[in-house]
Amino acid sequence: MAGMDPEVDAVLEAILDEVEDWHGTPHPEQAAHFEEHARALPPGAMGRAAWFVYAGEAWELEGDPGHAKAMYEEAVTDGGPSLLDPRAELLNVLLELGETDRAEEVLDELTVDLRDGRVTETFHVTVGEALELHGRLQEALRWFDAGVTWSESFVGDPDLVCLNGHFRVRRALGLPPDRYDELVERRRQEYLDDLGDDDSLLASTGGGAAGLMTVLYWPAEQFPKVLERYPALLEECGADHAEHRQHVELHLRDLAVGTSAVAVSVGSLDGLVGFAEQQADHAVAASTRAAYAAQCGRLGQTVTWPPGRNEPCWCGSGRKYKRCCGAFRDAG
Ligand SMILES: [Zn+2]
Repeated sequence: MAGMDPEVDAVLEAILDEVEDWHGTPHPEQAAHFEEHARALPPGAMGRAAWFVYAGEAWELEGDPGHAKAMYEEAVTDGGPSLLDPRAELLNVLLELGETDRAEEVLDELTVDLRDGRVTETFHVTVGEALELHGRLQEALRWFDAGVTWSESFVGDPDLVCLNGHFRVRRALGLPPDRYDELVERRRQEYLDDLGDDDSLLASTGGGAAGLMTVLYWPAEQFPKVLERYPALLEECGADHAEHRQHVELHLRDLAVGTSAVAVSVGSLDGLVGFAEQQADHAVAASTRAAYAAQCGRLGQTVTWPPGRNEPCWCGSGRKYKRCCGAFRDAG
């Protein structure tokens, strides 16, 4: 696994950079290219397992878990280092394919590693979410629980994704709030209190009984147009599109703590301009944009959030959520 040897990490980061360059290419082409990279290396060579894992991801995004499974199995057999644990990825597709015997074998191995403390940062979440998705809630809770306590002792702060998983599953199981659930509730209350005093935040209540909370997002092709027309929005939106996606993602995470009715309002420059004219308001006013975000919510111009970690990202990049906006670090 990664995280032990700086030289290994450097090679894995370089591979990841190369993978990033393939964004926007159709997934089957990516998968074929990544698999070629893997097969060009002798078994056990540095980077071989990592390339197979990326090939598996590309097939998953293409909606072909069978093909993804073959790639993850190759990575597991190889046994070399990879940023993501191929067994955790494999477990997810095996459960999806209903191959329960092999899934149990893989889960047993992962459980031994968990017990012996051989863990990586994304390991708990991937396994917990795979189990949750397939209705195995008690087991999912054990993994989220382990992830929360592991991150608390080794990173210093309980991991928010694990914390939310823990909260969600405990609620689904009808369990009473524990101290982590109380932490989740407290964070959410603090966030809502802050929102009351700060109207520059993008979040808005979508109106209606559902009380959907949305955050306004400018897709990649709209972002430069919006900033060109309204340079005053630079500070709020972020200096570039990556920063904008990060802002939106972090808002959504804060907003989503302890609730599920959260979505991305997908805005457009024409939409905002038209809305502001209709309301006889200035588009730069925060209240106009909050009302516009709410209208997007009512009109269904939204993307639900969060996507599954293995599903395409909400931002429209075509990458898996966990490899895209799901990978942004919480500033704390
Ligand atoms: Zn994204």
